[in-house]
Amino acid sequence: MSHTRTIPAPASAADVDEWTPDSWRSKPIRQAPDYPDPAALSKSLSELRRLPPIVHPREIARLKAHLGDVARGEAFLLQGGDCAELFDYCEQGAIESKIKLLLQMSLVLIWGADKRVVRIGRMAGQYAKPRSSPMETVDGRQVPSFRGDILNGFHLDERDLDPSRLVRAYHHSAATLNYIRAAISSGIADLHRPLDWGLGHVRDPLLKAKYSEAVSFLTDMLRFMHTVGADKTDKLDTVDLFTSHEGLLLDYEQSLTRLLDNPLPPSPAAAAAARPAKEYYDTSAHFLWIGDRTRQIDGAHVEFFRGIANPIGVKVGPTTPASDLLALLRRLNPSREAGKITLITRYGAGQVASLLPGHIRAVEDSEYARTVVWQCDPMHGNTQSVGAAGVKTRAFSDIFSELQQTLRIHKEQRSFLGGVHLELTGDAVTECLGGSEGLDEDDLSTNYTSFCDPRLNEKQALELAFLIADHYRC
Ligand code: PEP
Ligand code: MN
Repeated sequence: MSHTRTIPAPASAADVDEWTPDSWRSKPIRQAPDYPDPAALSKSLSELRRLPPIVHPREIARLKAHLGDVARGEAFLLQGGDCAELFDYCEQGAIESKIKLLLQMSLVLIWGADKRVVRIGRMAGQYAKPRSSPMETVDGRQVPSFRGDILNGFHLDERDLDPSRLVRAYHHSAATLNYIRAAISSGIADLHRPLDWGLGHVRDPLLKAKYSEAVSFLTDMLRFMHTVGADKTDKLDTVDLFTSHEGLLLDYEQSLTRLLDNPLPPSPAAAAAARPAKEYYDTSAHFLWIGDRTRQIDGAHVEFFRGIANPIGVKVGPTTPASDLLALLRRLNPSREAGKITLITRYGAGQVASLLPGHIRAVEDSEYARTVVWQCDPMHGNTQSVGAAGVKTRAFSDIFSELQQTLRIHKEQRSFLGGVHLELTGDAVTECLGGSEGLDEDDLSTNYTSFCDPRLNEKQALELAFLIADHYRC
């Protein structure tokens, strides 16, 4: 399904120059909802326009500066969270377990890669999902597909599009982020608290020895830092956790986009690269990405996101021609700001070796060399259906294989992998196959709770972090 609403108009120089928060409305758009009640939609949108920003330009600018460091190879980016966040996940336990998991993974990565780690959650707003078909068959009945809590509900009697969900999405995002901030400032991420690394499930003695070595190193280091007071410096006693979601629903994103004062430059060097006094910020999240289905150069999503100051991700996959990459970068980042664009590559373990080198060369041999963050999403190219019921899953071995090949290819190409983008949860779900627990097809039904794509559970996610760390230490 393409959901294309308008007929593509040829892009002219004038189209490219004039950006306004609603210039996307004249472009062809995919995956856009057709709300049956325009009056109810405009009521929700005007309510959103009145509500305060969820995030602040100063935080967005700080993340962009961190991503500049990632683009220069000085830091590593860890991004993770649910495929589809539900309003129900706006709850203390679910939020805390995700924060803790991202923190633990980042400690392992700091130890392995010897670099600072920038953390971004797919949290506090990841409510809109692109779908391959607007309808699906459930129990022999054709029903509208579930498109994420911001559009409709998963239960069959809630499948109609409901614009009041836009406002509920705002409030759930704000409440989630409020608790993230509160939990972090109250010490949930205190590095000197003993962390539960729970390695009991690791069956392979070699892996177990490896992970235990890392954990005792980290535990000793954290204890030492606490003893000497080194964890009380600004750098260590708080951790940042930025938020992100797919920028799919442009009505929502536009309503939270505001012309705001730019934060004061942090240094004279930054001041020299003068920015205008005010810029448009999408205040729904710190980082927004454009999905694989909506990254058409002359389409509405690229048009909208080229006008905002936030750092932007673009999914890149087997259907991305290498020539599109430069066109996208020139459209989204004409001033070649380092860290502004993250290319999130997701080819699948079987295709990465043939496609990634050409994509790297297209960018790194151009005027954009060393400006982008190369991030590997080893999830979305590795989805498969298993069993008679066709349960959607992913094999840990495929996920790790794509990641490992990506690391190797960047090394061969004298480029480097800046980060990873993962679908994960802090809960003990059974959605992906394999990992140290050795989950097999029969185990999937034990605790499969995703309404969208299968996520790594806490143990699988941590194991992936150990394996990445291992790559850097060997
Ligand atoms: C996602 O990140 O959940 C997603 C839909 O990915 P992609 O756009 O790469 O298919
Ligand atoms: Mn997904």
